[in-house]
Amino acid sequence: MNLSAKEQGGKALNKRIAVYPGSFDPPTAGHLNIVKRGTEIFDQVIVAVSQSTSKKYLFSTEERVELWRKLLKRIPRARVESFSGLLVNYVESKGTKIILRGLRNVTDFEYEIQMAITNKALKPRLETVFIMTEGTYSHLAASLIKEIVMMGGKVTGMVPPEVEKELKRKLRAK
Ligand code: ADP
Repeated sequence: MNLSAKEQGGKALNKRIAVYPGSFDPPTAGHLNIVKRGTEIFDQVIVAVSQSTSKKYLFSTEERVELWRKLLKRIPRARVESFSGLLVNYVESKGTKIILRGLRNVTDFEYEIQMAITNKALKPRLETVFIMTEGTYSHLAASLIKEIVMMGGKVTGMVPPEVEKELKRKLRAK
């Protein structure tokens, strides 16, 4: 059966793409776990590195994108991009309506529910979907990991080896 251009277009739109936005300064094993599990549910996961001007990052946008590029080599159905401006506009520009986020604890929940409701108010068509962290990743936070490295501690297993290497290089050079 031949599909019309419209039907084919519709089919492409039906491909379930989830946008996983975040600072990822740097990406941790917890973030990577969410991406992997996201690709088990969605056809494609786009990791969207935010370029917020109000936040101060250790890694530049290009460095955070490059780190993800290395990590995603092993995950065929995931790719990385950076974005600026309103997340909801970026998500729509990708032809999808799914925002993927991770949840670790009630602190995350309070922040995430506010963000999800705000994004829903801005674009009612969009949906935020949450994946709960797994036990071994529940304590992992990029901010803590940076502090541990700065004080000379080991973060093996908390971040992928590629990230550990770059973290040490960056923080020890400071
Ligand atoms: P943001 O600055 O947008 O909160 P983060 O890089 O801190 O970005 O986190 C991106 C997303 O990943 C958030 O939804 C956050 O709750 C989630 N996340 C962070 N660490 C973990 C983890 N260890 N396990 C599961 N989800 C996590």
